[in-house]
Amino acid sequence: MYHSVGDCSDDPYRVTVSPERLDRQLGWLRRHGLRGVCVRDLLAARARGQGRDLVGLTFDDGYADFVEAALPLLRHHGFGATLFVLPGRLGGDNAWDPRGPRKPLLDERGIRTAAACEGVEVGSHGLTHVDLTKADDTVLHAEVAKSRAVLSELIGAHVDGFCYPYGTVDRRVADAVRDAGYGYGCAIDPGPLTGPYALPRLHVGERDTSVRLFLKHKLHRLRRRPVEAVR
Ligand SMILES: [Zn+2]
Repeated sequence: MYHSVGDCSDDPYRVTVSPERLDRQLGWLRRHGLRGVCVRDLLAARARGQGRDLVGLTFDDGYADFVEAALPLLRHHGFGATLFVLPGRLGGDNAWDPRGPRKPLLDERGIRTAAACEGVEVGSHGLTHVDLTKADDTVLHAEVAKSRAVLSELIGAHVDGFCYPYGTVDRRVADAVRDAGYGYGCAIDPGPLTGPYALPRLHVGERDTSVRLFLKHKLHRLRRRPVEAVR
């Protein structure tokens, strides 16, 4: 789970990784015989009983630096990724974060640029980045179903992936995502809810050197319960 790629000198929520560090992390995966792919491709491979060498890479929030900084590195390593964007904040910034620098988000053109890249999947992160477990039914429906419709129109393709803002999800929210027609939902540490609509993810940041990546990779299976492949 990545967010922003750029200067991480002022980064109170530790959501930024420098391009140099990301390059090394992707190189580490490659040296270990692993390949970064979008979540849709990962789930499709696992459903075929394959894909043990694949790692799903996700970039949340749809920062403008995805196109400038992350895409060239993904291309260089021959990797894909899923980008989760906020169609209610096109060309805006991370206004939901009370602290830290304002980071610009991709506009419509930037999202289309990302979506047109081989191996890159664009999914929804809701409309505006609200905690859906605290949203009423009207807001929940708008954030989940409307964001899918807007995004699908924008990229001219089916939208399969959803990512819960702040990683917070409960049964009601996961059901809303399934009912809206998504194929999967990304969480962070969903505990007993773990499944196709509450996929666990691991934060990877600037401090993750090769030693820490090695440990995170090894411990992931123990720390998060495995997800049954959907066949
Ligand atoms: Zn987010």
